Amino acid sequence: MDHFLYRDGELYAEEVPVADIAAAVGTPFYLYSTATLTRHFRLFDEALAGTNHLVCYAVKAASNQAILKTLAQLGAGMDVVSGGEYARAKAAGVPGERIVFSGVGKTRAEMRMALEGGIRQFNVESEPEMAALSDVASEMGRVAPISVRVNPDVDAMTHAKIATGKAENKFGIPISRARQVYAQAAALPGLDVVGIDVHIGSQLTDLEPFRLAYDKVAELTEALRADGHDIRRLDLGGGLGIPYTRSNEAPPLPTEYGALIKETVGHLGCEIEIEPGRLVAGNAGILVSSVIYVKSGEGRDFLILDAAMNDLIRPAMYEAHHDIVPVTEPAAAAERVPYDVVGPVCETGDTFAKSRQLPRLAAGDLVAFRSAGAYGAVMASEYNTRPLTPEVLVDEHQFAVIRARPAFDEIINRDTIPPWL
Ligand SMILES: *Cc1c(COP(=O)(O)O)cnc(C)c1O
Repeated sequence: MDHFLYRDGELYAEEVPVADIAAAVGTPFYLYSTATLTRHFRLFDEALAGTNHLVCYAVKAASNQAILKTLAQLGAGMDVVSGGEYARAKAAGVPGERIVFSGVGKTRAEMRMALEGGIRQFNVESEPEMAALSDVASEMGRVAPISVRVNPDVDAMTHAKIATGKAENKFGIPISRARQVYAQAAALPGLDVVGIDVHIGSQLTDLEPFRLAYDKVAELTEALRADGHDIRRLDLGGGLGIPYTRSNEAPPLPTEYGALIKETVGHLGCEIEIEPGRLVAGNAGILVSSVIYVKSGEGRDFLILDAAMNDLIRPAMYEAHHDIVPVTEPAAAAERVPYDVVGPVCETGDTFAKSRQLPRLAAGDLVAFRSAGAYGAVMASEYNTRPLTPEVLVDEHQFAVIRARPAFDEIINRDTIPPWL
């Protein structure tokens, strides 16, 4: 459920007509709903009610300061995967003890930064990383709290580019080697082993892979405790999928996911962390764009938009589907015609949809890509020197630009000319 609904023949974001924001900001732009972000965060928080838990929002899904601050004020922790994201979380007012540092290749500089600023735990992913972190912490006279990310070798049954929990993926250490690796970690002077971490992939639309993974984590918890480790925290990752089409898909609900967590690991008495990103932000954001031209091709019509693959890369990168809706509500009986929906970038890959059935549209009409809040703006680039897509946040009757569209000068002036030119 989200807060982008038609009312009186127009698409609204909460209490504001999307067309009013487009008139004020210009297109294309990302538009987020505070009520939707809040609702989705609370669904997770409530799904784990009765357990000692922290919902750590995965910052990489949508990392604008205003979004982080909205979630931080609800009590969210943050899961970060780079020094930059750590800095973003801190700048949004998240205390270090609510920040988890994940990622397969943390540098020593990033480790130092997080130890200085405060950190809940590092999720370490390899023996060399453990050794480096122990070194860095010891040099600073600190002890770094860690969980080891284990790779449970389960098939998340999702798109290959976002599956992370199979043996062939680069993530974590094989669960079969976990006891040995934990023994090594316990022997390193700069580390304090606090828990186990697992994250098997993204856009999971079935609970079964989670069940397989969490059962393995439960078993491992008992084995590691028997080996003398004080396993007191389980980080169960993110990955719950969202419906990208309004019709058929019905991914599991956070309540069902919460119940599964309680069932699989609830008896262990551990503090639970989860790291949802997509489900919090995905349906809380849309990308608003205008039609530049409608062009007749050979046996097809192209809808040429002012948004392009540099603004929203998911269709080009993962063959992802986004529902596209006109901002002016079409009549129920309006004729639908097939369009190839494309952007202006000089790549054939800059195609959002082929033969998409839409009501007839004309130059100047506004359209919205639904479910664009996660892995949308954060993956935007300035390819073709198209300014980085602005972002806007709505909260009931008010809206604010939370990242402005850069002027061409700002973009160009980031380059520097060497003295010999
Ligand atoms: C990407 C990622 C997440 C978030 O995944 P979603 O599918 O957006 O919920 C959580 N944890 C880790 C370690 C990640 O890499």
